[in-house]
Amino acid sequence: MINKIQEHINEFNKYYEYLVEENKKYNLTSIVEREEAFIKHFEDSIALGEYLDLNSISTLCDVGSGAGFPSIPLKICYPHLKVTIVEPTMKRVNFMRNVISLLDLKDIEVIPGRAEDISREKNEMFDVVCARAVANMSQLLELLIGFCKVNGLVVAYKGDKGREETQTSQNAIKTLSCEVKDIIEYDLSKLTTTGESAGTRTLVILQKKNKTDKKYPRRYAEIKKNPL
Ligand code: SAM
Repeated sequence: MINKIQEHINEFNKYYEYLVEENKKYNLTSIVEREEAFIKHFEDSIALGEYLDLNSISTLCDVGSGAGFPSIPLKICYPHLKVTIVEPTMKRVNFMRNVISLLDLKDIEVIPGRAEDISREKNEMFDVVCARAVANMSQLLELLIGFCKVNGLVVAYKGDKGREETQTSQNAIKTLSCEVKDIIEYDLSKLTTTGESAGTRTLVILQKKNKTDKKYPRRYAEIKKNPL
């Protein structure tokens, strides 16, 4: 993964510098120290490429990407991907649009809005739908599933409790016609300051087996009040 970042170091440097600059005006991330940002944001975002053949994937949707994670680092490393980002907060939408033009990235769009509002107009259009740090697993699955093609993949980027969360979300997984394909736990690189890994992360990869019932996703208040 470090190699992938090195291959595109100019783009990642520009992205990092712009992130730090804009972070002075808007609160985009709490991680601004260079090594930490490279590991916890960039390296973590592109980890999926280690475990999934992204060259065989064409369309990717990232829901709630905030300052662009994981989809912008993925797009930098896998430029053939056609990327759609859905993000409700305008300051983050504008930040990502500026990064896209700064890095001259093509075939990547940022749609302002909430997943539950956009997913019906972008119904079953994507090979892979992903999200990092957006909601708990059952809520997240309901937000993401409508975007995903039948037989496509939903990827939840989780912290070190991804396996347990998957276990407690069996009802949502079944109700939304998904099957767990893989649960991958990995350690981020070591930080030179501590000599220890920057943390353990989990990628939960699910496959959508059938078309999504039109009643999903429900309104956000309902998803929160009565999670599947
Ligand atoms: N994915 C980024 C990351 O890992 O750094 C941002 C994570 S941030 C904690 C959560 C993001 O999800 C925010 O940008 C928020 O606006 C977005 N979000 C929350 N609810 C959402 C929804 N229903 N649809 C789309 N985005 C949502």
